Parts: sequence; structure tokens; C-alpha cells
Amino acid sequence: MADLWESDPFSPIGYHYKDLTLLHEEQSEYQTVQIYEHPFFGRMLVLDGVVQLTQRDEHFYHEMIVHPPMHAHPAPKQVLVIGGGDGGSIREVLRHPSVETAVLVDIDGRVSDVVAEWIPSVASALADPRVERQDQGGASFLEADQRRFDVIVIDSTDPVGPATELFESAFYARAFHRLSDDGIIVTQSESLHFHADFVRTVQQRMAENFPIVDCYSQAIATYAGNWWTFSIASKSPDVRNGARAPIEGLRYYDADVHRSAFLPRRVLDQVRAGSFP
Ligand code: SAM
Repeated sequence: MADLWESDPFSPIGYHYKDLTLLHEEQSEYQTVQIYEHPFFGRMLVLDGVVQLTQRDEHFYHEMIVHPPMHAHPAPKQVLVIGGGDGGSIREVLRHPSVETAVLVDIDGRVSDVVAEWIPSVASALADPRVERQDQGGASFLEADQRRFDVIVIDSTDPVGPATELFESAFYARAFHRLSDDGIIVTQSESLHFHADFVRTVQQRMAENFPIVDCYSQAIATYAGNWWTFSIASKSPDVRNGARAPIEGLRYYDADVHRSAFLPRRVLDQVRAGSFP
């Protein structure tokens, strides 16, 4: 049996997981990649000592980073996921019958390979013929690839190290030009409990580049800070109110969840003013 003391450089706490079995460990070009088994959480992906997903609760995160923007868009056909090498976001994107192509851009291709081997319930959709994998950084991909997408999902690690570039204003400016006229972008933007200042920064940087910016949240038990936010920006669709009827087969997301996930306006105003909590 093994213990994991999370070493999260972006959080004032770290969880301690006991009774673990280490199933796989390697040092990729970018990070330490580990797969653990836990009696309660099931299989877990850990990158550089930080838990990225557990089989028990990953669907809350992956449904909530994907389905609010995908349902707010009238007919998403071309979708881009940056980060998300575990395949969970791609799995949720492909549930939408309108999707023709799902491009996955993760700087570290080993994440997809390892999760496909050890947690197929998360990564199996990566084998879908509609998926195009690009093992490179998200910023360089947006710079080089001239395609336009209906929805862009930024499912990255914390804003430290290689992921830092995915939270810059210049990145959102480039993303704006890679989105269709009714395009929508969403990013995980950390926890309101621990990172309210960071959420404010992401909201400001998105507002420098998009006419519509909003924020919604979801409780994620296994992320330090728990009150996890998703910052969303739109070129035209009303992301807060304009969602289509939910597609079939989802475990958690529905129209009520969509509506209740968006931050109350007063709270969002406080976050943006820097007066939260
Ligand atoms: N759900 C997790 C979370 O919210 O912390 C993130 C899941 S996913 C495993 C995060 C992915 O971001 C990793 O596979 C990592 O390789 C990728 N990543 C980090 N920086 C990146 C960058 N600049 N471009 C593309 N992918 C990046």
C-alpha cells in the first residue's frame, strides 16, 4: 500500500491519500505521470504529484467543463480541446451528435497513452474516428493552425509551468480569431475558495478579448479548494441563458444544473472587483 501527499504548488493545502496501490509511474518529457488505485476513488491520474482525476468524481468535472458551452452553442461541429489529454473532455464532446471533428491538443502525448491503458472509461473516446490528436502546446497550435472552431475547451493543469501560457490575454486574443462568429471558449479557472484573485485575472483577460464573459462553478471534491470555476467567453451566444435542451445520456448535467451553476451576479461582481470573499 502507498500514500500520496499531494504536492500542489498552486494551493495552500494538499490532500493525503492513503491505502493506494501504485499501478504505473513514468517521467515523461513534461511531468511525472502516475496511475493509482484507491478503494473509494477507483483509479486516479496524478501529474507531478497533483490529482487530475479520479474515476469516482471525474464525470462532474468533465460534464461541467464541456456541456455548458456545448449546449449554449447552436450547433457545435468543430471542437478543440487544449489540455485534456486524459480524454474525459473529448468523451463528453463526442456525445453531441452535431460534432464532426474533435481536435485534442495536449503538450504531453504520454498522458493520453497512459490513461488509455489504465483508465479506459475516461480515455476510450480518443479512438473515435472524429478525434484528431496533436501532441503540442496549445499556444503554438493556435498560432499555426488556421482552422476556426465552434467551441474551444481549455482543460489544463494549474497555471504553473507549461500551462501558464494558456491563461494569458494574448492566448485569448489568438483564440478569438480561431473561433467561428458564434464561437465559445471555456477554461478551468481554479477555485473560488483559494484562487479568487486568479479567477478575477482570468475574467479580466477574457473581457479584454470577448464581448460576453461569464463564470460558473461546480463542487469538485478532489481538487484543492473544491469550489471549482469555469470561466467562459462568447462571441455572440448567451451562455448563461441560451442553452439548448440537454442531449441524452448525461449523468449529471441538465438544464437546471446549467442555470444554477452560473455564479450569482452579485458574487461575480465581487470577484471581478477583487472584493470576494
Ligand atoms: N482536469 C485537470 C485539472 O483541471 O486539473 C486537467 C486534466 S488534463 C490531465 C491537463 C493536461 O494539460 C495535461 O495532460 C497536460 O499535459 C496539459 N497541458 C499543460 N500545459 C499545456 C499546454 N501549454 N498546452 C497543451 N496542453 C497542456
